[in-house]
Amino acid sequence: MTFPLQIPENPYLLLTPGPLSTTGTVKAAMLRDWCTWDTEYNDLVQGIRRQLVELTGSDRFTAVLMQGSGTFCVESAIGSMMPPGGKLLILANGAYGLRMAAIARYLNISHEVHNSGEMAPPDLARLEQTLAADTAITHVAVVHCETTTGLLNPVEHIGPLVRKAGRLFMVDAMSSFGGIPMDPEAWGIDVLISSANKCIQGVPGFGFILARRDVIRQWEGQARSLSLDAYDQWQTMETHGGKWRFTSPTHVVRAFSQALAELAEEGGIKARHRRYQKNQQLLRNGMQELGFAPLLPEALQSPIITAFLHPPLPGFSFPGFYNRLKRRGFVIYPGKVSVAECFRIGSIGEVYPQSIQALLEAVDWATGFLPDSGR
Ligand SMILES: *Cc1c(COP(=O)(O)O)cnc(C)c1O
Repeated sequence: MTFPLQIPENPYLLLTPGPLSTTGTVKAAMLRDWCTWDTEYNDLVQGIRRQLVELTGSDRFTAVLMQGSGTFCVESAIGSMMPPGGKLLILANGAYGLRMAAIARYLNISHEVHNSGEMAPPDLARLEQTLAADTAITHVAVVHCETTTGLLNPVEHIGPLVRKAGRLFMVDAMSSFGGIPMDPEAWGIDVLISSANKCIQGVPGFGFILARRDVIRQWEGQARSLSLDAYDQWQTMETHGGKWRFTSPTHVVRAFSQALAELAEEGGIKARHRRYQKNQQLLRNGMQELGFAPLLPEALQSPIITAFLHPPLPGFSFPGFYNRLKRRGFVIYPGKVSVAECFRIGSIGEVYPQSIQALLEAVDWATGFLPDSGR
């Protein structure tokens, strides 16, 4: 054979919030082929849908899986849930909130954006006033963990206001679902979106929409796109025992099923959340000791990803820093905010406090040679 079977080693740990480092067992689950219309495969899909609903803690929800990256799923949800003539109010404080506005613009959906800036949670008094004054608004959308900065939005306070005002509430929980305990029913969430390659620790290839059954039933015929029609996909899955309408990412789906089993084995969302919190606290404290200031105050910070300001060291450059860390086995993220020069480090995935400890040693090494580093 010209190409002998070889399992490659991972040259680095991904400290990026999706795709992230996965376990060997999740990757190994992809080493077989599946027939998409065989019942064995469709049963696997049904099992995944059931387990996702269980993670919401409420049997009023139902799950629909959708091909593509997380954004495809957000676009699918927005394009399918908005009735003709509906208006979407988007509470934005980062790139992912603004992306929802871009989706609404592309789909010609009437919308309004409350942008509180990258460093501040939404203004809840303004939200209440707007919902009281503008009766055209039918839906409100927000990002739970704004991955741009790592800011955690107070979804548990927003949802009840939206529900009290009689509107529907959609949450992009892409980078938080599975890693932060949530109570969608008590928080007044009608539609929640996440993807395979974030806190559930699968590999990229599809996302999922968790919607209240009574809500998704209303979506028939509303979608602005055939392939992203969440209602039609849901109907097909419901009535054909877990069948996707078009080719599904079979290997990715099998890996996701393994990732869900590993989430349960770890002790569920609460246990995973504790590990992420430990990672993040160690990271934040350790980086501060090395002279790096976090962008956000601790009160706004999620355990998912942390943005740090570039240090005031002459000679510091992000590409140089990135390459030195990569050589030591760690890959981090560039910044994404407009307010300051930052880089970001994720604390999710197959990452443990000892991984963070090793990263801190690598950061010390990667900057210790700079003049004025004090080291
Ligand atoms: C990752 C992410 C998305 C989706 O991004 P893709 O690159 O399309 O997977 C959407 N919203 C948030 C908050 C995210 O973190």
